[in-house]
Amino acid sequence: MEIRRIAELLRTGQPGEAVTVRGWVRTKRELKEFAFAEVNDGSGMANLQVVINADLADSDTILRQLNTGASVEVTGEVVESPAKGQRIELKATTVRVYGEADPQSYVLQKKRHSFEFLRTIAHLRSRTNTYGAVFRVRNACAAAVHQFFQERGFLWVHTPIITASDCEGAGELFSVTSLDLNALPLNEAKAVDFSQDFFGKRAFLTVSGQLEAEIMALAFGSVYTFGPTFRAENSNTSRHLAEFWMIEPEMAFCDLDGNMDLAEAFLKHIFKSVLENCAEDMEFFNKRIDNSVLETADNIINNEFERITYTEAIAQLEKSDRKFEYPVSWGLDLQSEHERYLAEELFKKPVIVTDYPAEIKAFYMRQNDDGKTVRAMDVLAPKVGEIIGGSQREERLDVLENRIKASGIDAEELWWYLDLRRYGTVPHAGFGLGFERVVQFMTGMGNIRDVIPFPRAPQTIDF
Ligand code: ATP
Ligand code: MN
Repeated sequence: MEIRRIAELLRTGQPGEAVTVRGWVRTKRELKEFAFAEVNDGSGMANLQVVINADLADSDTILRQLNTGASVEVTGEVVESPAKGQRIELKATTVRVYGEADPQSYVLQKKRHSFEFLRTIAHLRSRTNTYGAVFRVRNACAAAVHQFFQERGFLWVHTPIITASDCEGAGELFSVTSLDLNALPLNEAKAVDFSQDFFGKRAFLTVSGQLEAEIMALAFGSVYTFGPTFRAENSNTSRHLAEFWMIEPEMAFCDLDGNMDLAEAFLKHIFKSVLENCAEDMEFFNKRIDNSVLETADNIINNEFERITYTEAIAQLEKSDRKFEYPVSWGLDLQSEHERYLAEELFKKPVIVTDYPAEIKAFYMRQNDDGKTVRAMDVLAPKVGEIIGGSQREERLDVLENRIKASGIDAEELWWYLDLRRYGTVPHAGFGLGFERVVQFMTGMGNIRDVIPFPRAPQTIDF
């Protein structure tokens, strides 16, 4: 018997077809002559209604076992459904219960739980409607990322997760060590002797794959990374994770304008693709989570992003009659409240802010001729704030060396990075996009911990 995925069956199944489905029971309703079980296999939002006649062999045992959460295999005949809201249902001929779920102890019963509670049962929450939709959208979004870059000839490169370089400056680092933390070897200065550690020097979990992506871009032209990154920032916010996924394209022979064009085309592509491939899930978010997500997606796809310089942004913020918690002045790093004001209220669409003060940006960003600003760009989105951070990179050896010195970073550590400017340097640019921020933005989920299956955050790691 052909095993069918429920989403596909609901779309294309015809009355009279004999099929088998496998999944988990969402609910069961018992009437006199027959019972209904709603079965979901994770392939889509909608459940398949299974009809079990009282005259089915072993129906008493089956019905006793067929509680919410039980895993089943049902074989039967597709029939037209007399019920509203579904075209077809499955009339069972055999039902096999693989694993029962005791209704006394299985927590995912009809009652709706809060996301806070569901976060404490990360091993079960994916079986709920909301998380089912989130993780299907996440998957579609990841597929769209690869599709976008692969179609444009970008090479997917795998940058290291363990790194010896601690100078990227993007955030607090997690250490990686195999030393016995209860018996640390000390050197003469009574500091930990990392020469005895696994790598012979200190190592960390990466905060970004950018610097390595630059190496690869200077060999392959256009590349992208898509992998996990780690930040030990103790920021207990709804937008920060300790472990998150990042997408970092890097392009040789490209300036900031090309970078902005790519970022905009990229966001438009993934939104379009998710709307096409997860229409039902997106409707669910619009109805149940945030009634503006479809409008927002439409806004992204159909409007040109606003592009303004940091200096213009500051002028706009100073002009506004809004009282900000952090007072606005040139030189200040834009805070979330400022970013959201620009995207949500002033322009009501994504805004790309460029040319930030050098002081508040990383050493590798290309210096402008004004001597004060660098070719940075942040894409700010309504509701979420910063969603992309990028720049044109400093490709001039002498300027980069000065910048590194001024930032107090040890140039020796970056000998390989400087070599890229010594041999065959070219203008190049790229950006970093927090994958979870995009999924959050897309789905309207308020907390970033609800768009990654197993969130890691301060004081949060269950298994
Ligand atoms: P923020 O100001 O929001 O902390 P950032 O300036 O530290 O961001 P970048 O270093 O530019 O961010 O990182 C690139 C992208 O990675 C950001 O635009 C954001 O989408 C995402 N990002 C950064 N930190 C986190 C985090 N802790 N959890 C999830 N995503 C993150
Ligand atoms: Mn940060």
